[in-house]
Amino acid sequence: MTLLEVEGLDVFHGDLQAVFGLAFCVAEREAVALVGANGAGKTTFLRALVGLIDSKQGRIRFDGGDIQDTPAETIARLGLGMVPEGRMLFDTLTVEENLLMGQVSKRSGSWTLRRVFDLFPALEERRGHLPRQLSGGQQQMVSIGRALMCNPRLLLCDEISLGLAPVMVEQIYGAFNDIRKEGTALVLVEQDVKRAASASDRIYCLLKGRVSLTAKAGDVSVAELTQAYFGM
Ligand code: ATP
Repeated sequence: MTLLEVEGLDVFHGDLQAVFGLAFCVAEREAVALVGANGAGKTTFLRALVGLIDSKQGRIRFDGGDIQDTPAETIARLGLGMVPEGRMLFDTLTVEENLLMGQVSKRSGSWTLRRVFDLFPALEERRGHLPRQLSGGQQQMVSIGRALMCNPRLLLCDEISLGLAPVMVEQIYGAFNDIRKEGTALVLVEQDVKRAASASDRIYCLLKGRVSLTAKAGDVSVAELTQAYFGM
């Protein structure tokens, strides 16, 4: 069943249009990679989906209902969650308090503090630490854990591997397997095409705010992807 369906979406930053007529869909339990160069419009698209950008037109349906005019808080409660670019943790709250903040928009479901600690044991050891006392990878785990605490049906992840050590990226992508087993669908936004594609069923490439390619992750050649990514 289709969980998220986007048709003809335009998104604006003031006078600047950043996303043009976008069509995009994610099925239940599916993992989809969304790749594209700097400035292609990936973050703008995600922020528009979760209600953080109002200046948009087109249709966004989630779990069978229109959400293009729905406030962000309600969208989170419906089960559309996001791990934002740059993690956006609360600096003065501990790891545990940051995770519990995710419950503000909580839906019923299986994710609890216990389950997040089982997924990322490093966080349980550091539950009383402040974010600045953690490595970048551990901070990213807090950001993912906080989003899971809402029990999302679909989790949008914005460039989570950016600037992290490869071993941390491995750990986090390993955790995605467990998250998918819980039935959560994923959208993985990355500049690292290989990484995102290897963890996904399908791939979309954005170029200057438009979809330049959509394919099954295993079906696309490097040459096709390079052309779609850079527009060459
Ligand atoms: P990156 O990988 O660098 O995050 P991206 O694919 O996520 O890039 P966006 O950040 O969505 O791309 O940017 C798309 C376009 O919108 C760019 O031209 C960018 O300069 C512009 N843009 C993004 N945010 C704003 C903003 N708050 N105000 C004005 N223009 C913006």
